Amino acid sequence: KAKIHYEEPQQRDDGTASWLRTSKIPLDDIEGNTVALLGLYEDITARKEMEAQLRSMAHYDGLTKLANRAFFYHHLEQTVAKSKRHGGLMALMYFDIDRFKAINDTHGHAAGDSLLTAFASRISATVREMDVVARLGGDEFALLLDDIPERRAAESVAAKLVSAMHPPFLIGELSVTVTTSIGVAFFKRGMNAEDLIQRADQAMYEAKRGGRNRFEIDRETVEAD
Ligand code: GH3
Ligand code: MG
Repeated sequence: KAKIHYEEPQQRDDGTASWLRTSKIPLDDIEGNTVALLGLYEDITARKEMEAQLRSMAHYDGLTKLANRAFFYHHLEQTVAKSKRHGGLMALMYFDIDRFKAINDTHGHAAGDSLLTAFASRISATVREMDVVARLGGDEFALLLDDIPERRAAESVAAKLVSAMHPPFLIGELSVTVTTSIGVAFFKRGMNAEDLIQRADQAMYEAKRGGRNRFEIDRETVEAD
């Protein structure tokens, strides 16, 4: 008789729509008579709205099922605006697969596509559910960490992502090994979304120049703590 974790649309008093994730569990006495109903409610409106936006093809990368560049820019602009008001710490990571062209050249474009999909899944599996991951195009991906406690948290996520790509990817019969280079930039007052992306992109190129298979922090956006 218990109903666990079902999602139900609601209407707020002001008429706007919201979503609840609900569990209802009847509580019985020793004779088996239901004497009370335990209800648990979680507001999942924000998640539902994000899913609806992503579902619209315009915001969605068909290959990897991640958010696309358009969605990511929109989300980043909103987060930057919020960050200006609340002043939370925010990090942007920009990453690119190392020597990805060689995978296409050696194993074909279809294998390359499968690798992109598997790479995307590993990113998603490594970060928190609330972190927005996007494929910006080609073999370039981005990740936004909003409201992190300290800069070191972003560094540890970047290190985790570099390591997460080390186990070989199994693509059909193939076992393929790739690495990634990541640039990390932090939001600073006065920056806009475009500045932040450029700083992270620049740091990513530094990581490439520094030998790939590594992350690099953008020095400009790290102030002395
Ligand atoms: P680097 O370490 O400097 O990043 O070397 P790279 O070979 O990865 O160079 P780059 O990132 O510039 O190349 C990306 C390649 O990704 C170029 C293009 O052939 C390939 N590519 C872009 N989009 C797709 C796609 O949708 N599918 C596949 N299979 N390949 C793609
Ligand atoms: Mg590349």
